[in-house]
Amino acid sequence: MYEKLEMLIDGEWCAGSDGKSEPVINPANEETLGTLPHASRSDLDRALAAAQRAFLSWSATSAFDRSTILRKAAELMRERSDQIATTLTLEEGKAFAEARVEVLSSADITDWYAEEGKRAYGRIIPSRAPGMRQMVLKEPVGPVAAFTPWNFPAVTPIRKMAGALAAGCSCIIKPSEETPGTCIALARCFQDAGLPKGVLNVVFGVPAEVSERVIASPIIRKISFTGSIAVGKHLLKLAAEGLKRTTMELGGHSPVIVFDDVDVDQVVKVVVAGKYRNAGQVCVSPTRFFVQDSKYPAFVKAFATAAKALKVGSGMEAGVQMGPLANARRLDAMAEFVADARDHGAKIETGGDRIGNSGFFFEPTVISDVPDDARIMYDEPFGPLAPITRFKSFDEVVTRANSLEYGLASYAFTTSEKTASAISDKLQTGMVAVNGLTVSTPETPFGGVKHSGHGSEGGVEGLEAYLNTKFVSQAH
Ligand code: NAD
Repeated sequence: MYEKLEMLIDGEWCAGSDGKSEPVINPANEETLGTLPHASRSDLDRALAAAQRAFLSWSATSAFDRSTILRKAAELMRERSDQIATTLTLEEGKAFAEARVEVLSSADITDWYAEEGKRAYGRIIPSRAPGMRQMVLKEPVGPVAAFTPWNFPAVTPIRKMAGALAAGCSCIIKPSEETPGTCIALARCFQDAGLPKGVLNVVFGVPAEVSERVIASPIIRKISFTGSIAVGKHLLKLAAEGLKRTTMELGGHSPVIVFDDVDVDQVVKVVVAGKYRNAGQVCVSPTRFFVQDSKYPAFVKAFATAAKALKVGSGMEAGVQMGPLANARRLDAMAEFVADARDHGAKIETGGDRIGNSGFFFEPTVISDVPDDARIMYDEPFGPLAPITRFKSFDEVVTRANSLEYGLASYAFTTSEKTASAISDKLQTGMVAVNGLTVSTPETPFGGVKHSGHGSEGGVEGLEAYLNTKFVSQAH
């Protein structure tokens, strides 16, 4: 049922040459799912050489031929979606239905990039001098190194792999060692669709060792990373040494602003579903709830009731709405956030504790009257905790929402058109959703500002991230 764990180097599925490996754990029962090989230095060098070689031919392949392979890969992802989603749930924990949606979204992202790759348009700029043609050309940036985390084992790798491949780049990806099987399964779809050898390479290892070696190589021209701010800063320093282009998606702490003109029950239905998706381990998860005074008591009550009613269990069990946390580190972090909030005088409305002692389960938790100086209000919780606080005025809530260094996503709920446009103008984030939580689709740009990173994935910007701009002037 679980994926066979291998690396992909120069078109060959292989183990590491020095025999190092690590176990992959099922977070629902802490059993070992498989043994993941690590790349040795020479394996990484082989992957680099393959990416360099393959870049020459892949970048010279027409965008139409590249598109055919990507579309075939997307079809294979759909055909294999049940199997891939099973692997995803087993290694990450999220409910199977969510995992399946993630795999199908990955197919959609691949299709979208397959088409967008055909539209890497340049332009002709009228010249000042007669007999002179001025052209702007778009060219693939070169071999790409990608690093992805454990919370979306399909969508985060696919955004990088499909974007790079559609643009004509080769790629070395190091997915999370905690959730490797999903990316391996997606890479098999590309290989089985006819991707030439060496264009896509999948490696694993000690993250710091792999990134240091790969980023330092002069072969790599672009780094794309999704993960924590601390690691993002570290990789940016490594990239700076070689003046390499970067895309950094580094998490957020999304405010949800609920104005007093809304229907509380309607809003609660939407935000509770969003809050506990993937047990809150989502970079755009709604994480700081600001509710305008008069609606605050009703909102807290309805939120706690809905959170309490959620069915928590193994993601493979039918009807389960929230699975375990993905690793033991998150359990410890949740306990610390809850204890700190309590110490700051906040009230635990529901939840607050680990469930059982086998598997990394934590209760859907709602915390009210949370002061802004409680840790959970300034440190990304990345788990099933919903801190709720009240506000009085528009200006006050804007100041509080914008007070952190995070700037990924933000949300607002109001029935006033005027308030809707005013709040989306004021929020300092890369993405804003009003009256909903939709910020991620294949065709729209996904990315943050401030410490949440830079660059976008998806949308025309997602392809642009893998293209260089070349100006050519040609005299007749
Ligand atoms: P972490 O910072 O140790 O790891 C985050 C990811 O980066 C992991 O997938 C890891 O394999 C990778 N990584 C770590 N060091 C690396 C290196 N030197 N080179 C390349 N990759 C490296 O943290 P964690 O315990 O896995 O997660 C903790 C926090 O990270 C969360 O609380 C959350 O804030 C953030 N996070 C964000 C996202 C996101 O989608 N933006 C995803 C996962 C985690």
